[in-house]
Amino acid sequence: MKWFTSLISDVITPDASAAKPAPPAPAPAPPTTRAIALNGKHVDYLLVRKRGRRGVGLRIDGKGMSVMAPLGASITTIEDMITKHESWVVNKLEEWAPRRVIAQSFANDAQLYFLGNTLSLRYIPAPVKPRVELDGEQLLVYLKADTIVAVDCEARVSKLVLAWMRKQALPHFAQRAFFFARQHNYVPPRVMLSSALGRWGSCNSKREVRFSWRLIKARPALVDYVVCHELAHLRQMNHSNEFWAEVEIMCPDYRTLKVELDKSDHLFRAY
Ligand SMILES: [Zn+2]
Repeated sequence: MKWFTSLISDVITPDASAAKPAPPAPAPAPPTTRAIALNGKHVDYLLVRKRGRRGVGLRIDGKGMSVMAPLGASITTIEDMITKHESWVVNKLEEWAPRRVIAQSFANDAQLYFLGNTLSLRYIPAPVKPRVELDGEQLLVYLKADTIVAVDCEARVSKLVLAWMRKQALPHFAQRAFFFARQHNYVPPRVMLSSALGRWGSCNSKREVRFSWRLIKARPALVDYVVCHELAHLRQMNHSNEFWAEVEIMCPDYRTLKVELDKSDHLFRAY
C-alpha cells in the first residue's frame, strides 16, 4: 500500500544558454540555501552544483525546490533560468504545498505525533541511562547533563525517540491485527515492522504482515484502516472489488480514512 506516487514532479530540460563549457572547475561547494522572489513571493531553494553538469535543472518535490547547476554557472544564469519558468515553479510549489515535508526537530519542547496526538518532547537531566517515557502528552527524555549540552544532543535524542516509537508500534499493530482477525475469522498473521518510506503496509503469502513503524504517528482509526487493508489481502491478493468488499466489512469508513491517510503523508515522512 503506497502512500505517494512520485517524489519528483518534473525536471526542466537544460537551458541552452547555460550549456557553455564551465571555466576550470573549482571544488564543488556543499549545497546552499538561497532565496528568490517569484510572483512577488519569497521562495527558498537548494542550490546543488555538480561537476560535469551541463545546464540548469529544476526539481520540485515535498522538500521544495532544488536547482542543479554546473560548477561555474553564475547566480544570474541560474536565477534567470528560474525566473524564465516562474509560473511553472509557482504552480508546482502550490501543488506540492499540502505534501510539504517539514523536517522533525528533536529539540527540547519539539512537537511529535504519536497515535494522532501531539506530544511535547521534554529533556529531563538525570544521572541515569538515557531513556524515553510517555507521561500524558509529554514525551520525557532522560539525559545526562553533559548530553544535553553536547552538539549532537538532538541526533542522540532522535535515535532514542525512534527506538521508543518502534517499541510502541509493534504491539499496537499486532494487537489491532489480532483483534480484527478474531472478529472476522482470519487466521492471525505474523505481524512485523518495516522501515519502509514508500508504503504503510505489505503482506505476503506466508501470512506475514508488515507495517511501517511510521504509521504509529497516525491516529488510531487510520492505523486500523491500514491493518484491515493488509488483513484483507490475506484473502484477496489484489485490489479487486472483492478485496475492497472485505475491507469494508472490517472498516466501514475506509473510503474517508483512505483519503485522510493519503493527505497526511507529509506528517509521516518528516522522519
Ligand atoms: Zn493493498
